[in-house]
Amino acid sequence: MSKADIVVIGAGSVGANVAYRLAERGAKVTVLEAGAPGGGTSGTSFAWTNSFHKTPRDYHELNTASMAEHLSLVVELGGGDWHKQEGALAWEQEPLGRAQLKETVERLGSWGYPVEIISAHDARKLEPDLQIASHVDEVVFTPSEGYVDVVPLIGRLLSHAVRRGARVLSGERVTGVIREGMRVRGVTTESGARFEADMVVDCAGPATDEVARLAGVEIPIDRVPGRLIYTTPVASTLRRPIHAPGVHFRPDGGGRIVLAEFGHDQVWRQSEEPWTAEQSLAAVAAHFPALAGARVEAIRFGVRPIPRDERPMVGGIPGLDGFFIVASHSGVTLGPLWGLIAAAEILDGVPDPRLAPYRPARFLS
Ligand SMILES: Cc1cc2nc3c(=O)[nH]c(=O)nc-3n(C[C@H](O)[C@H](O)[C@H](O)COP(=O)(O)OP(=O)(O)OC[C@H]3O[C@@H](n4cnc5c(N)ncnc54)[C@H](O)[C@@H]3O)c2cc1C
Repeated sequence: MSKADIVVIGAGSVGANVAYRLAERGAKVTVLEAGAPGGGTSGTSFAWTNSFHKTPRDYHELNTASMAEHLSLVVELGGGDWHKQEGALAWEQEPLGRAQLKETVERLGSWGYPVEIISAHDARKLEPDLQIASHVDEVVFTPSEGYVDVVPLIGRLLSHAVRRGARVLSGERVTGVIREGMRVRGVTTESGARFEADMVVDCAGPATDEVARLAGVEIPIDRVPGRLIYTTPVASTLRRPIHAPGVHFRPDGGGRIVLAEFGHDQVWRQSEEPWTAEQSLAAVAAHFPALAGARVEAIRFGVRPIPRDERPMVGGIPGLDGFFIVASHSGVTLGPLWGLIAAAEILDGVPDPRLAPYRPARFLS
């Protein structure tokens, strides 16, 4: 199907990777984006590329495969200042947290994931601005991890897709899916335009279910909000994602630091008392004194698209030709792999066995 007309709905991390790979394989791609590329969840993401807490094993393998694809993309797209891979650091202070971290490290080690235990002294050689409690003698270093400046990556993927003939249309919200019997033939948009296609790929992130419903397909996507806090610029040498007890933080360019609470947002969502952004800032400053005197500059909420069983959803719909869904959490880490797999399955028609547990069909009765 290499010269097929393909419509990709959504230009987030997932849609941009899918569009790039399809165009690179010779398909005629049109990307329809309701807003601006990168303006959805992908523009408000902690964007830690990792497979630290990803279980079961087959899901972990998908994440590590995609981390390798991020590295390939850097080479393929001609250098990648969006990709910051200098590892990540994590530590815990209390006995329960330390035991859980140890268990994770043992599992990761037995699965062949690059993970090292280093001393607090050595961790401070990597990140001199950290303050690690004196009784902490073990810090976990995961050298293959890092983070991504997601929107510049999306920009690069789309510009390479355009060089290969793709069209990227911003401000085109898909409002209808054209069906002829059990075959999807294209889409219509709010502006009244009609786009005929041999294949429509639904990469609409938190709206994946709404777009699927236009095609007559009911799939369950949960929208799980997350809060990120951006500080005023501070002078520091921080380079990596840091997972200190109860908080996560990393550089966000221009000296700003982006913070997320434990489990990204569990604290403010579960707390009966409002947990303010300033409290988060103070919690991070305890481990990162460079933040002393810094202020909260912005608070942004992102909406995670999470299939109801928290597993990826990638593939076609049995009995409905011409419609393909790509939705998952960790769509920053997983985007490059989804691009490769979706392009191969759509253009070659060969199912990837790694995705057998993750087909949309599991939700269809
Ligand atoms: C706080 C937070 C922290 C996170 N941390 C991480 C992390 O550390 N690591 C990680 O890998 N992932 C993380 N994630 C998850 C990751 O950011 C998302 O999985 C990913 O960004 C989703 O990308 P997407 O392309 O599926 O969706 P989006 O980026 O939302 O893109 C979908 C696009 O579709 C468009 N669209 C929707 N409906 C239509 C329509 N009808 N017509 C046309 N266009 C449409 C939207 O405008 C949007 O641009 C985090 C998410 C949040 C919120």
